Amino acid sequence: MKLTKVQELSDEMCNKLLQAGEEAIKYTFPEPNNGYSVAVLTDKGNIYTGASYKSDTYTLTMHSEAVALVHAANHGETNIVAITGPNCHICKQLIYESSLKSGLDTLVIIEEEGQIKQIPISEMMPYPWPEPSI
Ligand SMILES: [Zn+2]
Repeated sequence: MKLTKVQELSDEMCNKLLQAGEEAIKYTFPEPNNGYSVAVLTDKGNIYTGASYKSDTYTLTMHSEAVALVHAANHGETNIVAITGPNCHICKQLIYESSLKSGLDTLVIIEEEGQIKQIPISEMMPYPWPEPSI
């Protein structure tokens, strides 16, 4: 599936999403405020947060991005317009695969040195796997 470009969000919406992502840090497991948290925005305009869920095995630790995507999916929403970042490369892959399924080129919202950046996930995947089918 060819990805559809997502319209840039307003600064207000970006800030709302970034704030929701930051506030979710209190839900990290097993210790609050120790880990990572993000927020996603769906095409219905809803925001779902995710906080990392740490396992003693480390391998089983769930990254906040995966948790947020599952959170949205459990509300019947899999069309992700935007997600807060930066994200690790495992999560970039997961976000990219979500984009391939929805067809939306999910925007990664990053605040860097006081500037808000909106980067389509496809631009973060220069040699993607799997390749999008045309
Ligand atoms: Zn990650």
